[in-house]
Amino acid sequence: MSRVRAISLFSGGLDSICATRVVMAQGVEVLAIKFVSPFFGYDILRDPDGYRSKIKQKYGIEVSVYDISEEYLQMLRSPSHGFGKYFNPCVDCKIFMLERAKTMLDEFGASFLITGEVLGQRPMSQRRDTLNVIERDSATRSLLLRPLSAKLMNPTEAELNGWVDREKLLDFSGRGRSRQIALAKSFGITDFPAPAGGCILADPILSTRIARVYNNDFVVTQQNMNVADILLMLIGRQFLLPNRGWLVLGREEKENDRLEELQEPGDIKLFIEERPGPVALLRRAAELYDNADARGRDLEAAAGLVTRYAKKKDGRPTGGNVIIIDDAAHSESFYEPLMDGTFRDWII
Ligand code: SF4
Repeated sequence: MSRVRAISLFSGGLDSICATRVVMAQGVEVLAIKFVSPFFGYDILRDPDGYRSKIKQKYGIEVSVYDISEEYLQMLRSPSHGFGKYFNPCVDCKIFMLERAKTMLDEFGASFLITGEVLGQRPMSQRRDTLNVIERDSATRSLLLRPLSAKLMNPTEAELNGWVDREKLLDFSGRGRSRQIALAKSFGITDFPAPAGGCILADPILSTRIARVYNNDFVVTQQNMNVADILLMLIGRQFLLPNRGWLVLGREEKENDRLEELQEPGDIKLFIEERPGPVALLRRAAELYDNADARGRDLEAAAGLVTRYAKKKDGRPTGGNVIIIDDAAHSESFYEPLMDGTFRDWII
């Protein structure tokens, strides 16, 4: 007889590791699903195979990675349950992921879903009434097993059908992690990730930038932004120039390289060659300006910021030749560095 299968929503955190292993320990074949978007886990897309083998080796869990960026950006436009403290739509996020995972059940021949949610662990998304809303709105009520708090909840199909033994599930609640840590140790897992963190939508500074886009208070708006815009928003020094140009400067070589990767047609790139300094991108310059003066003033400001943040000489910002490349042209001119007081209000 073939084994019962389940799909686990896998964040990579301690709770999802424990929940997955608790069900695996009952002989169920579990496929963990790691969803990624520009807001969480996106780096995994650089090497999904490496991530898969790391998770298998560290936690004994089979994981598949899915990029849900495009749909996730749409969902963020109007989450019906609103936002948490920052721009984190946790309830809708979970509903969205469960709906998505539910559509995969047939493909994997799986009978139920697992999450690592723990009753009362988080103020917004893990209260009992919210957990009920999540399963109701994702239409997963009977399908969704939360092994870590299952004994505090009504039995689901997995228990009623005898696919798992309810007695071997758990009754965790509240914020503490000690029971999860002890449980992980019982599976021989001692090297697990630190709590929380990882979601940019719950970051006080970065989420504010994202919120500006969704409030249509920025150069890119929710109608015309793309995944690369969001990724660009999360790195480097960010400025909104006086004529509405969006400028991003790399703070180190790695960020400079990343900016080059994120460059798109219509962007203007600025950089300095004579000494170490930032690469800068003036995003969507080709479509942003309706007159050459405004464009010229923003370019001048951008070049002044490039020399301001280039390596100092004798401890002071110094002028230098800035190379400016847009789709059609290439120029090089000398620019003095901007004084700090000049651009303080441009920082975003
Ligand atoms: S913290 Fe981020 S990833 Fe986690 S539920 Fe909230 S929005 Fe989703």
